[in-house]
Amino acid sequence: MANIELITDKDILKGYFSDASNYPGHAEALIRPKSLQDVIEIVKEANSKKIPITTIGNRSSLTGSASPEGGWILDTSQMAKITEINHKEKFAVSEPGIMLSDFKKTVFDEGLFYAPDPTSEKECFFGGSIATNASGSRTFKYGSTRKYVRALEVVLSTGKVLNVRRPQIEKNTFGYLPFQNMVDIFVGSEGTLGVITKAEVGLIEKPENFFGGMVFFGSLNDALDFVVAVREELKKVTPLIMPRAVELFDHHGLSIIKNDSSFKIPESSKAAIFFEQEYDSNVSFENILDQWLSFMGKSRSLSDDTVIAGNIKQQEELRRLRHMVPSHLFEEGARFVNDGGGKVSTDWSVPVNKIHEIINYAHNLALEAKIEEPVIYGHIGNGHPHYNFIAKNSSEKKQILDVVHKTCKKVVSLGGTIAAEHGIGKIKKDFVKYQYPEPIIDAMKALKMSLDPSGIMAPGNIF
Ligand SMILES: Cc1cc2nc3c(=O)[nH]c(=O)nc-3n(C[C@H](O)[C@H](O)[C@H](O)COP(=O)(O)OP(=O)(O)OC[C@H]3O[C@@H](n4cnc5c(N)ncnc54)[C@H](O)[C@@H]3O)c2cc1C
Repeated sequence: MANIELITDKDILKGYFSDASNYPGHAEALIRPKSLQDVIEIVKEANSKKIPITTIGNRSSLTGSASPEGGWILDTSQMAKITEINHKEKFAVSEPGIMLSDFKKTVFDEGLFYAPDPTSEKECFFGGSIATNASGSRTFKYGSTRKYVRALEVVLSTGKVLNVRRPQIEKNTFGYLPFQNMVDIFVGSEGTLGVITKAEVGLIEKPENFFGGMVFFGSLNDALDFVVAVREELKKVTPLIMPRAVELFDHHGLSIIKNDSSFKIPESSKAAIFFEQEYDSNVSFENILDQWLSFMGKSRSLSDDTVIAGNIKQQEELRRLRHMVPSHLFEEGARFVNDGGGKVSTDWSVPVNKIHEIINYAHNLALEAKIEEPVIYGHIGNGHPHYNFIAKNSSEKKQILDVVHKTCKKVVSLGGTIAAEHGIGKIKKDFVKYQYPEPIIDAMKALKMSLDPSGIMAPGNIF
């Protein structure tokens, strides 16, 4: 550790005690390794003294997973080099500390496309997005980060470096399934198993063209029916409509957009669906747009108000509006943190055919509990709307959490998950029991303890 600075200045440290969830943490030092060798040295030293290590990316976590519980904060920001872009085999290798949007832009400028697109891509690191298995609006077509991670370099708490690669074999009966693909053990492990120091990810051909659209509806129910119709369309042998993103805004989400931008929201709209559709040079923009307009014509959309974003400026504007909603809520929630309140957001998802049922269920629970209506927005095409409640104080927060607990139980009974993209961190640990039986949770803990025998890696996360 001779050449590695341990930053202990209290003013600097304080700025690292919390991530975007505002979950309060504390730590004794901040360390910024510049190389794999630095990470090995830091981890060995910490392990020998049983000092906890919380690895951080850009701390955009919404679950407290990057808020440290004592010990050292391992900041990956100085390890930000893309070391290879392979055009022939379509992959790139990078260190973790590069901003995800910079990584994506670099490969895009070279004619390739990295599909994972969390809305926070300008606020999160490549490594953080892997450690949380981040996803985004285009997950509807492309799947989440996990699907693209081909190989990882991970430093375990003992200082041992593991190089794991997604198997390419077509048959294998040896090993419990979660261990057959060692890459997947680390994707989404929220810093609890080791430090990801390098990752190889698969790239795809750049989509030739796409356009975006905003379709408005007179009720939330009409918007949900539209989503189910899109999913039904995809089951056809030659579907006409193949969006890459299908995102919801409820009327509260639309109000945020209306107040924070000059975008025109029709008076009678109570919900909207934002979509993106790719197309190649074999079809014309007019042709594919006609198909969409005719499809929308069969739904109960407010078709005269549909907004189509054909050029880059308009497309970026729609994506900016999409990001505006979580950003606004993030700031709104922060205003009440000192009074014991804040933003309570859900990350559950259900199979799409259960979406009406769960939304009605959650709505009735909120009515019964007399809590303020949530803002609902997000990845509805994947059955994954985010509910966002703003609690003004601790008693409101307690009531809201009670409703969220009941909703999560129901979600699991419908075949859903309590955490579809943000992970568990420290804030959602109480929900874990709804999803997995105790022996399976114990098996996950045992895996952690065998890879991290001293339990120093991101203590407090997940378990
Ligand atoms: C406004 C807003 C919008 C968001 N939208 C989305 C969205 O659309 N989709 C989505 O999935 N998430 C979203 N998020 C959440 C967040 O951006 C993601 O979870 C992101 O992937 C976290 O990356 P990060 O670099 O900020 O990691 P951090 O927040 O710093 O860390 C997150 C976790 O990863 C671990 N970690 C980080 N780097 C490493 C590493 N190199 N090795 C091992 N462990 C590591 C940390 O220990 C921690 O457990 C949003 C957040 C905000 C504030």
